[in-house]
Amino acid sequence: MIQLYIPLNFLGVIYREIKQSLTDLDKMFTLMDKEREVADAPGAQPLAGLDQPTVRFEDVVFAYDPGVVSTGGRTILQGISFEIPAGKTVAVVGPSGSGKSTLARLLFRFYDIQQGRITIAGQEIRSVTQASVRQAIGIVPQDTVLFNDTVAYNIAYGRPGATQEEIEAAARAARIHDFIASTPKGYATMVGERGLKLSGGEKQRVAIARTLLKNPPILIFDEATSALDSANERAIQAELQGVAQNKTTLVIAHRLSTVVDAHEILVMDAGRIIERGTHAQLLAQRGRYADMWTLQQSDPSA
Ligand code: ATP
Repeated sequence: MIQLYIPLNFLGVIYREIKQSLTDLDKMFTLMDKEREVADAPGAQPLAGLDQPTVRFEDVVFAYDPGVVSTGGRTILQGISFEIPAGKTVAVVGPSGSGKSTLARLLFRFYDIQQGRITIAGQEIRSVTQASVRQAIGIVPQDTVLFNDTVAYNIAYGRPGATQEEIEAAARAARIHDFIASTPKGYATMVGERGLKLSGGEKQRVAIARTLLKNPPILIFDEATSALDSANERAIQAELQGVAQNKTTLVIAHRLSTVVDAHEILVMDAGRIIERGTHAQLLAQRGRYADMWTLQQSDPSA
């Protein structure tokens, strides 16, 4: 029996590891249709100095098809430079397809860039282990993938081995505890396709709880495009702001109300940063951002 148990237990560990990395990558990284493209450099060491790291993009040029850069083909990012100072929030706005989510994928090192540098705490992400980069980053994606497992299990993905108390504390902070507690089986409730269906807002709260448990120094928020009702949306924004406190945060924003307090806002168009500054500076420039702001004020669903 023991002989059988050990390999099964080992398989369980591998299964959890695979599910963990799937969760981390989540849907925004479209893992299913993509082979893993990056490899650790020989002798790569883990990232160090992760207490409030600074994140920098320096002249980053990127194409999903690497062949096109040298032949002058379609590059997705064309010389992107910005810095997220330690513990601050930088927000990215711009039309669909302008390259916002690509920035997040590159920071997670889902792909390697063709030119330039991306650094975390001064270390180029290409030169350190991928595992340590991904461990340092928490993602709240647009559309959270839940597994056909219990609510507790889904939240504990933030930190395998978390205790029930830690899971509940994270759920409380993400304002999902009361909802979970109101279901007959509580944290043992099955969710996902074959279980309890959660609304978009509830799923995002599970993702926030996961991230709180993981407690990474760097956060990526990919704001949902699908409109939540506005009370729910304001509540989620407030919770996200709480989670982002003192963390180095990249927000991919679809609604400008989210970005007003950001340290810097980058306005992207066709793979370039066309305007940058604080909310007040950008309004004063009366450029693209100011136009977007005026439009959203008159039609909040825009
Ligand atoms: P949205 O607001 O709609 O999410 P976005 O600004 O985040 O858009 P990206 O997802 O970064 O835009 O996409 C930038 C460009 O890269 C788009 O033209 C898109 O078609 C292209 N692109 C995105 N993912 C891939 C991929 N895996 N392979 C090839 N091209 C891609």
